[in-house]
Amino acid sequence: MSSDLVKLTKLFEAGSEADMLGFLNYLTDIYRKYLNAKDNFIYQSFRSPKDFFNLKTLINALKLKTFSSSYHDMKKFIPNEHLQYLLSFQTLYIGISPFSGPSIYNIIPMIELLYGVWFIKGGMYQYAKALERRFKELGGTIQYHSEIKQVVTSGRKVTGIQVNDDTIPVDAAVINADYPYAVENLLSPEAQKIEKMTPKKVNKMEYSMSCLLIYLGVNEQYPQLDLHTIKMASDFKGNVQEIEDGVLPPDPSYYIYNPSKLDDSFAPAGASSLYILVPVGNLQASKISKQRYLEYANQVIDKAQREFDLNDLQSQIVVKEVFTPDQFNSLYNSKFGTAFGLKPTLLQSNYFRPHNKARKIDGLYFAGASSHPGAGVPIVITSGELAAKEVERDFNNE
Ligand SMILES: Cc1cc2nc3c(=O)[nH]c(=O)nc-3n(C[C@H](O)[C@H](O)[C@H](O)COP(=O)(O)OP(=O)(O)OC[C@H]3O[C@@H](n4cnc5c(N)ncnc54)[C@H](O)[C@@H]3O)c2cc1C
Repeated sequence: MSSDLVKLTKLFEAGSEADMLGFLNYLTDIYRKYLNAKDNFIYQSFRSPKDFFNLKTLINALKLKTFSSSYHDMKKFIPNEHLQYLLSFQTLYIGISPFSGPSIYNIIPMIELLYGVWFIKGGMYQYAKALERRFKELGGTIQYHSEIKQVVTSGRKVTGIQVNDDTIPVDAAVINADYPYAVENLLSPEAQKIEKMTPKKVNKMEYSMSCLLIYLGVNEQYPQLDLHTIKMASDFKGNVQEIEDGVLPPDPSYYIYNPSKLDDSFAPAGASSLYILVPVGNLQASKISKQRYLEYANQVIDKAQREFDLNDLQSQIVVKEVFTPDQFNSLYNSKFGTAFGLKPTLLQSNYFRPHNKARKIDGLYFAGASSHPGAGVPIVITSGELAAKEVERDFNNE
């Protein structure tokens, strides 16, 4: 899918003129909702009930009309089933099915189309490096290879953090580890009680899907692959159901990333670096062994080789790493090994998502995919900004 209107017109008119008209109507409708969501919900942190349960915010929430699913909403605009899928599958980027995820997430394809999809020279790691540089310029210090064991509280107040075997006194702590993990593992049972957020409650929350990632270093280049290639399963709806049920799909949807197309720093001359991403169920839906995933990864590579004519892909592989939901859990402390944290259902969005400021404990703040506003790099960065503003609000008046 291009972000060039001339090419898009060709694509949608190939369905029918009604599809093109529906597409333009969808853009108008969703852009209006985006402006509303941006000003009233995304860049807005919720501290107390009155921040959400007030007439203005409730009216704006109703105007979002987000009670149907992404797919059903798209269906209202666009008659062609394939084009409906083309504009609603993007909820998978935040780990929720388009058939059950709230229709407000139809904002995602609109953002791709109107604001473009961007590539950072050197990959996402360069963005992390840039944030690190800026943080240090502002006077921050970073201690690497250190595990936070506990956020220490005294009554209703944060007093320190336990890092490795040391306890460091602090006035405030911003936790950007996965919220459900943090509640269960970083808060003492007493603090959980005060915060009214127990492991039992956390277990009842809904969790996004996970991903299988196949990282490949390949002694070959594949010009037929663009930077981003998405292959949808022939039975897309059935495929999404399989993911939710924790079944490894026999005909999966998958995404191939080919950064060597734009950037020669990813691999030696003539070679390329690829990754294949397959959405799969999280560890709550099923536990699949590493061995089974390794076999499955091979089937997916064969499938990509066949479907995109990637001659000899299997035999050109020099490096292969298979990353599974278990590793999201063991390496990043993501509960149930999700790739996108808490599922962004209606009841886990906006005011109903974990807030950036703890409800009851002073000096405790949350940022990251499982807290408000949600998953995805720009949104997580916004989450960090909202948490920082909450800290400023509490400490600047002292
Ligand atoms: C395969 C994949 C592709 C994606 N592609 C995109 C994309 O193209 N565009 C986009 O916008 N988003 C994308 N996302 C989503 C995006 O990457 C995430 O939503 C975002 O990175 C989450 O940020 P975070 O800070 O909440 O969590 P993380 O990036 O996981 O950071 C949390 C960090 O906390 C650390 N941590 C946890 N517990 C402790 C502890 N006790 N002590 C010390 N450290 C701890 C973890 O190790 C981790 O490094 C993608 C996600 C995946 C999985």
